[in-house]
Amino acid sequence: MKRIAMFSIPAHGHTNPMLPVAAELVKRGHAVRFYSFNEFADKIKATGAEFVSCDSYLPSLSSEEEAALKSINTTEMTVQDIKVTLAMNDFLEDEFQSFKPDVVYTDSVCFWGKLNAWKFEVPMVVSTSTFAFNQMSSKYMKQSKRELADMIFGLPKISKALKSLKAYGYKFKGALDLVQSSNDTDSIVYTSRDFQPYAECFSDHYEFVGPSVFTNKLPDKRKNRPLVYISMGTIINDRPDFYTKCIRALKDKNVDVIISCGNAIDKSELGSLPENVEVFPYVDQLEVLSKADVFITHCGMNSVSESLYMATPLVLYPQTSEQRAVSRRTAETGAGVVLTDDSAEGIKKAVETVLSNESYAKAAQERCADFRSCGGTSGAADFILSAPHKGNGFDMMKELNKVNGRFQIVYWMIITMLFVLFGIFVTWSYAWIIGVCGGVFSYPIGQVVQGIAYNKIAARIRQERKS
Ligand code: UDP
Repeated sequence: MKRIAMFSIPAHGHTNPMLPVAAELVKRGHAVRFYSFNEFADKIKATGAEFVSCDSYLPSLSSEEEAALKSINTTEMTVQDIKVTLAMNDFLEDEFQSFKPDVVYTDSVCFWGKLNAWKFEVPMVVSTSTFAFNQMSSKYMKQSKRELADMIFGLPKISKALKSLKAYGYKFKGALDLVQSSNDTDSIVYTSRDFQPYAECFSDHYEFVGPSVFTNKLPDKRKNRPLVYISMGTIINDRPDFYTKCIRALKDKNVDVIISCGNAIDKSELGSLPENVEVFPYVDQLEVLSKADVFITHCGMNSVSESLYMATPLVLYPQTSEQRAVSRRTAETGAGVVLTDDSAEGIKKAVETVLSNESYAKAAQERCADFRSCGGTSGAADFILSAPHKGNGFDMMKELNKVNGRFQIVYWMIITMLFVLFGIFVTWSYAWIIGVCGGVFSYPIGQVVQGIAYNKIAARIRQERKS
């Protein structure tokens, strides 16, 4: 029997995929202690794991801090994550000494789980509730101007908070160490290799287990008329404006509509409901998705994975950079359309497009088969129980960085040559233009070169995996 300490942040999207894994570990006779928050107590206890409440370590928030967290402000999330880690320091020190976990299974952005695993040198497996992100796959994330500004202006605040962690003996190199897993970190990702962007650049320390869900029920779409399901997830879901537009878009159509609007809004805000629309604060999402024909979603990773697991095509309405990455990848596979016009008319058209074109449902069915062929919760439990993993030592990111290094040398040699030739044979007065152009084009050309190198190495890896 092993002792497993599990940690997550107070968010449904991060906690939910860990629950079926906890249940599987308990079923196999292991002692699982899940450090979480009262909101999730019932769900955690239902897995058979021991629930340990951490609510008393959550700092009280000012209204500005609360608003920043609600809008997924990276700086505020990082700073609060650090505050909770500091508040839990003594408590977790006692816990690690008394429970003596053999493995820590922690959410990828739960600093107190990761930092204490490193501090007490316990093998750690990271639970990645989004796509795995690194230098390559984060190309899928298009940061909005507001997100970029938040990040840049938040840096001094983050580095000050990080310094306070070092004083407590926590070991880490920098902020990136805390929010992003390296190719040496044992990591579970709840998607398939096929769906993960740039999957081949993640080392074999990464286990792609497919969506982590409690059911293996198959989708059944038989009914009198199509069902449209709408949810904006559990964090930024107070969007009465959007739900009202959806209702206007679909009230006269021959479809049934279920809206999950969260607890933040009262359904009376949505006016009197047409006969074909039902609104709930929370639904059994997998159950609804097993019957739904279209899902209008904010593109949270769990929601999209669950939708595809239930072969439901999507209308993609991402709100954050992470959600835009999920949206882009889903659209690429043909299983959904991006909602570019969020007026009632735009929503109606997007739903009609998905319902009238079989290719979307077909692509979702293919993804459903792909997801169900992954290791699932059983594969995740095997991976956790056999941690730490050795790996085969191959790290594609190191290869790609070498290619980039070589490219930069050759590129700047060529630019210097052109600069000199231009100066000698044309004029020195305007030779600076060559230098400026060299600087401007170095990044995009570098990206193309890296892309070509990635495709070449990835093809080799896939070939090796097949044989
Ligand atoms: N969820 C649910 N019922 C609801 C709304 C959401 O069970 O009515 C669950 C959903 O199944 C998913 C999670 O809440 O597992 C939402 O996670 P996601 O990553 O999609 O979005 P987030 O809420 O983190 O933005």
